[in-house]
Amino acid sequence: MEHNDRPYLIAGPCSVESREQLQQICEALSRQPRVRLIRGGVWKPRTRPGGFEGLGEPALRWMQELRESPLRMADGSPLRFCCEVARPEHVELCRRYGIDTVWIGARTTSNPFMVDDLCQALHNSGMAVMVKNPVSPDIRLWLGAIERLQHAGVDNISAIHRGFNMYDNHGYRNEPLWEVAMELRHQLPTLPILCDPSHIGGSTALVPQIAKTALQLDYDGLMVEVHPSPTHALTDAAQQLTPDELRDLTEKLLSRQPAANGQPSATIAPELALLRRKIDSVDHDLLQLLGQRMQCSHQIATLKREAGMTVYQSDRWASMVDDRLRQAARLGLNEAFTRELLEKIHGESIRIQMEK
Ligand code: PEP
Ligand code: MN
Repeated sequence: MEHNDRPYLIAGPCSVESREQLQQICEALSRQPRVRLIRGGVWKPRTRPGGFEGLGEPALRWMQELRESPLRMADGSPLRFCCEVARPEHVELCRRYGIDTVWIGARTTSNPFMVDDLCQALHNSGMAVMVKNPVSPDIRLWLGAIERLQHAGVDNISAIHRGFNMYDNHGYRNEPLWEVAMELRHQLPTLPILCDPSHIGGSTALVPQIAKTALQLDYDGLMVEVHPSPTHALTDAAQQLTPDELRDLTEKLLSRQPAANGQPSATIAPELALLRRKIDSVDHDLLQLLGQRMQCSHQIATLKREAGMTVYQSDRWASMVDDRLRQAARLGLNEAFTRELLEKIHGESIRIQMEK
């Protein structure tokens, strides 16, 4: 994935449902210059039995036929497809039908045995592999799958953030927990990371906002589910966009994109640099003040012990919170943020006093 490809856009239906549906979506997406790769589920992991489980080999055959047809991606090259693989046989079939980019789904990433089996099949395959985050927010499983692929000699690896299934998903289908993906980026700074706003949101209406957040967080790309007629989709009907909706979304989002290399443009660079210097200096002051505050806690601990007082003084704490929240309101600071910050600081102060 080159920098000038950013954001790298993958689009296509949750599942390949028929020759006609695949052809229709390919015709629509091949006209969209931002689309670099067409996705289409061929084997569908269903949480409960009885649903549409994908068409398997015939879907791959149609992909191959379409790649050999006169249809072209917007850059003039033959159509490019990717699909999910969960078993070694899937990898073998993809190879047979010329699919050179695959992804490992969330349920598979969660299972090191399955990842190991896939690694054996992917060894020396030359395929590009995208690794979706595991269903639960255990970053070690995500890192583990990536490391297993690296050990198997797969050198074109990227990650897809598709959200996490929590007991309460706070209105999402899978809660994004952006901090987990940020931590992955921190640990593997050169690994490209894409966002899948469709599986995070679970509804068409949520897709644009999630995609926008991902681009503001400097993701390398997006994987978006797009169907010629979403309401009739056999899987994930509620979250797929029409091709026109995808076009609107990319036009809106990409007109606001920062410079392609992530560097600020010359017009805003001086002001940005100034503001960043100011932020650095304010942060240093904050830490200086926190240091002074904790020094007071050390001294107070000694006084309280000598006076036989308990460390935690609920009345004092309640009145401090009231006072600070009033000040925060005057300063236009968010109340929940201020409360959380005060609790953190107070918690540290208590810890220091208990240790004395
Ligand atoms: C999919 O991409 O259609 C899919 C099943 O995704 P996930 O593994 O994220 O649930
Ligand atoms: Mn889907």
